This record gives sequence, structure tokens and C-alpha cells, in this order.
Amino acid sequence: MKVTALAGGVGGAKLAHGLAQALPPENLTIIVNTGDDFEHLGLKICPDLDTVCYTLAGLANPATGWGRADETWHALESLAALGGPSWFRLGDRDLGTHLERTRRLRAGQPLSQITADFCRAWGVGPTVLPMSDDPLPTIVLTPEGELPFQEYFVRRKCEPQVTGFRFEGAERAAPAPGVLEALRDADLIVICPSNPWVSIDPVVSVPGVREAVAARPAVAVSSIIGGQAVKGPAAKMYAELGIQPSALAVARHFDALIDGFVFDKVDSLQTAEIRALGIEPFVTATIMRTLADRKQLAEEVLKFGEEIVKRKSEKQR
Ligand code: GDP
Repeated sequence: MKVTALAGGVGGAKLAHGLAQALPPENLTIIVNTGDDFEHLGLKICPDLDTVCYTLAGLANPATGWGRADETWHALESLAALGGPSWFRLGDRDLGTHLERTRRLRAGQPLSQITADFCRAWGVGPTVLPMSDDPLPTIVLTPEGELPFQEYFVRRKCEPQVTGFRFEGAERAAPAPGVLEALRDADLIVICPSNPWVSIDPVVSVPGVREAVAARPAVAVSSIIGGQAVKGPAAKMYAELGIQPSALAVARHFDALIDGFVFDKVDSLQTAEIRALGIEPFVTATIMRTLADRKQLAEEVLKFGEEIVKRKSEKQR
């Protein structure tokens, strides 16, 4: 079965890693959010892309889920001592990635090509694609005005209330080479447990992507468990936008895109309401604490996905 996954950073990378263990590399493509990308210290930083690649390469910091394992912080300490901006944590090993990516971008290479080259160097088997080679920054709308995503997320620690989001340049952006093909050729599309508002919505805002996902059998994994996010502001965002955070809210969020929805046992009382949306429900343990959990959840998602693919093709016959 050929699978194309949509992913943000930490939550998405964990399931992508599980999928990478459960599928041959040629059968897995991961399309990653680049709405969080920004320029800092003159360098192009792609947090979600790096989190996914480091995780698949076995280079990620297991404690944080982002950044590199065995990291040191000498460059950042030296910068801070000079009064430079140190609010965005960049470790020494990680800096090497940003330096080389920025050098290549300035030389005119597209992000998708650079990502493919880095993945080859790191021994990443599956295909990892940025959603677009064009800049498409996520802007967070707040009562105090618009905030660039990392200003909101890292510098302000998600404190400002959100009133909405804007994906700047979405109308003009093109999907990166291979994105639409990977969606069209997928037997199954998996929406990883990433923040629906700021990790998955930016990906489907790229022209052509929403339609391409809707056209194929697709399952999503809930990033909300027991009304809360495992990590990050997803639940806070739902609440501030006037929606009670729940697995059901995530299922509704992706309603037009998905055929099946995987959510946690603790939310099993929402099964009937999810089925009433016309979405096939699947309840299991969805918290990925260990490497084994990632593989286990990925295998269950794939098995459930196979059922969904079968049912959809029977219906269309
Ligand atoms: P970010 O860009 O680094 O914030 O990462 P993502 O958007 O990919 O992931 C954030 C989302 O992943 C949050 O809404 C979390 O609730 C969710 N998440 C993180 N770990 C897990 C997990 O183990 N299981 C599930 N189901 N969701 C998770």
C-alpha cells in the first residue's frame, strides 16, 4: 500500500517515524508544513521539516522531540553574551543544517531539492517533501494585532489569545514538485496527529492540495486526547475560537477531507457522534511515549486504512 502522510512537527514526526518502520521506504511520502518557517539571524529555519527529518534519521533529541540529540549550545551562549537574540533555541549541530540550507537557497536551489539531498545524507528512506518551495508564512491573528508564527509560538509562548489564522501568499504558492503526484498516487492518505490549525491547515491551503486529499481515501489521527493537546496550543486555540476542544472537534475540522478517524480510548464516548458525521471511527491508544508506541499506532492506522480503502472502492463500484 502506498501511503502519503501530512505532518507538522513533533506529533506528526512521531507517527511518521512509526509509518517509516511499518512500510517499505518507497511506499511512504511525508508532506510537511512549512508555514512555521522563518528567517532568524540571517538563516532560513524550517522547524517542522527538520523535526520530521531528524526524527526519521534517528538524530532527534528524544527529550524535546525537536532539535538534535547530543546537542551543545556554545554558539547560542556566545551570541547571548554579545546581546544577540537568543529566544529561539538553535543548537550547534542544528546550526550546521541551517547554515548549509541557507547557503544553498541563496545559490538558487529550491527547498524541496535541498531537503531531498539532506535526507540522502542523513540516510532517511521515505520521501520527505516540503508542502511548497514558495514562502507561505502562518500569521496568527490576535486582539493585539497580527503575529508571525514563531513570535506567537516561541517568543510569546502561545500566550496571546487567537482570533484566527492567515497563510500569507497561499493563493500564489505552488505545491512543491512531487506533492500533488504523491497525493494522487497514494492508496491512503494519513493526516498525522499534528495541530489542525497551524500544522495541517497550512498544508491543505496550498492550491490543489485540499482537492487532492479529498479525492483519495484518507484517515486522520486525533491530536486532541481527553479534551487536551498532548503538547502545544491546539486545545487552547479551539477554546479561544469558541469550539470545545475534543476528538469530535478535530473530526469535524477534517470532515470534508477524511473517510476514517483514529482517536483515543478515553474519548470513546464520542464514537456515535463521529460516525454520524459519515466518518468511520477507530478507537485505540494514541499516545506515543516510546518508539514501540509509534510503530504500534502506525500499524493500527495502516490496518484501519486498508479497511477504509476497501470500503471506499466497493462503494465506488
Ligand atoms: P509542532 O509543529 O512541533 O507543534 O508539532 P505538531 O503540530 O506535529 O504536533 C502538535 C500536536 O501533536 C499537538 O496538538 C499534540 O496534541 C499532538 N501530539 C503530540 N504527541 C502526540 C501523541 O503521542 N499522540 C497524539 N495522538 N497526538 C500527539
